[in-house]
Amino acid sequence: MNCEMCGSKKAINKTNIEGAVLSLCSGCSSYGEVIERIKPKPKKKEKTFTQSPVKQETILLISKDYSKKIKNKREKLGLKQEEFAKKINEKESLIRKIESGTTEPNLDLARRIEKFLKIKIVKAHKEQTEYKSKTKAGPVTIGDLITIKKN
Ligand SMILES: [Zn+2]
Repeated sequence: MNCEMCGSKKAINKTNIEGAVLSLCSGCSSYGEVIERIKPKPKKKEKTFTQSPVKQETILLISKDYSKKIKNKREKLGLKQEEFAKKINEKESLIRKIESGTTEPNLDLARRIEKFLKIKIVKAHKEQTEYKSKTKAGPVTIGDLITIKKN
């Protein structure tokens, strides 16, 4: 902020001039009584987002090779489809469909299968929904956003 008296120099002191406290430069503060030094403010960051505007959403997906993984592990465990179905409280017909890849298990079932077979068929997929910018690291400024929107 500039001196409230001369307006040209940088205000460095809070100065009492006849009862009014003004922020004054070193020259002008000699007209009154200096109350305190103005601490230099940290650089303004108003135009910079503290958080990146890129929204990251984590989506849980079933692995594409879920059918193979389930079938392989089930066979390794020496379980028949029927037995496996019973263990996880599902119909044998559903297991058959899942293992043939015609029916994708829902997340709940996939989790139960994962737990029972000790395999991994659910994967977290991170998706950026806005302002896709792979070159920029760190905070995005308003200027950057304008550039991105233009593209
Ligand atoms: Zn001044």
